[in-house]
Amino acid sequence: MAPVAIETPVHTNGTNGASSDSVKKVQQETEHVHDIDPSKLTLHLKSELTPVPAPETLTFGTVHTDHMLVLNYSPELGWSAPSIEPYGPMQVDPMASCIQYATNIFEGMKAYMGADGRPRLFRPDLNMARMKRSADRLALPPFDEQALLKLIKTLVMVEKRWIPTAPGCSLYIRPTMFGTRCGFGVTPSTSATLLVILSPSGPYFPGPVRPISLYAESRVRRAWPGGTGGHKLALNYAPTLRPTHDASLQGYNQILWLFGDDDHLGEVGQMNAFVVLRREDGSLDVITPPLDGTILPGVTRQSVLDLTRAHMLNAPIPGLPAELTLHVQERHMPIAELVEHSEAGRLAEVFGVGTAAVLVPINRIGYGEEGKEIAEETGASGFGPVAKAVREEIMAIQEARRTHVWSVPCDE
Ligand SMILES: *Cc1c(COP(=O)(O)O)cnc(C)c1O
Repeated sequence: MAPVAIETPVHTNGTNGASSDSVKKVQQETEHVHDIDPSKLTLHLKSELTPVPAPETLTFGTVHTDHMLVLNYSPELGWSAPSIEPYGPMQVDPMASCIQYATNIFEGMKAYMGADGRPRLFRPDLNMARMKRSADRLALPPFDEQALLKLIKTLVMVEKRWIPTAPGCSLYIRPTMFGTRCGFGVTPSTSATLLVILSPSGPYFPGPVRPISLYAESRVRRAWPGGTGGHKLALNYAPTLRPTHDASLQGYNQILWLFGDDDHLGEVGQMNAFVVLRREDGSLDVITPPLDGTILPGVTRQSVLDLTRAHMLNAPIPGLPAELTLHVQERHMPIAELVEHSEAGRLAEVFGVGTAAVLVPINRIGYGEEGKEIAEETGASGFGPVAKAVREEIMAIQEARRTHVWSVPCDE
């Protein structure tokens, strides 16, 4: 379909939204300036390094490593020479775009230490591509994904001693970009800062993985068609804090986000949702909501889909019978349908997936005025057979216990 041109008056005082002129200007400017250049990297390393915490004391995302990667973008010069420097607070102008208009994006990925002593990333190309889409969604400057990935690998190698080797532990990587343009005009942030910070992490949930409970939220929406739910933007998170806190006061761990007139399933807190149904012939339906713009395209979600689809083709998942048929589907499921399956005894498993926790089983969902509980049979551990096998297989690939193209070494 050809775009239809609608003539509108051009506002030049910068306070009436992003005019097409300013967008064009950003595009023109970015064509002549420097992209990220890993060969220009400078290292300013601390002379006294912090002792690494004992692995058993690690939780999720509380400790940072000694150094961070910093890049600044200016409209005149483009991306500055990358710098790995001591971790520390930074100065941001009070009028900066990120403070006033939430031009903040981030990524979440992990480095795992293999038994051979080589740190590896898990499908990092998918994170880089997603970060580029997030930047574009907020009109933040574009960047060369492969160049940024190269710098992230270098940073991980510099901070290698921080990667915990205990089972379930890893080095969490948080690439972050924010707009630094000063001024109250609601226009694209023509300058930006890109940071990569690292945090040694224990298991997301300490102790054995226990199933969690969800409150199915139908009054407050996390995302909507045409909104930003499909991008990893900081502004998607802030509005979830109040409803999630309120749900926790009612005894629930997370929110099951619902969308649309039919209240169909969205996501589980900050994780993608999966439902497994049992058919009469013993085969299983593996269902996750489709990427319709309200769902974050998770790397873990994609990996669960790839593994369960491959189970049917040529690569059975260890721990699942090879003859077990999985009907893998990306489709909407109204909450009423979930209730129906549960009442008919067809609901086998519900779980959430994401980088931080890998996979979390769900054993209780409260819904509606009367707080209807959707019960399901997942056994004492909370794990159904699909959740258990898929989680183990993903972790085996991440930790390089199994050789796989998804596991990318940082030292090459
Ligand atoms: C990051 C995120 C996920 C999980 O994505 P992964 O790439 O698997 O870590 C799911 N939902 C939301 C809303 C997220 O922000």
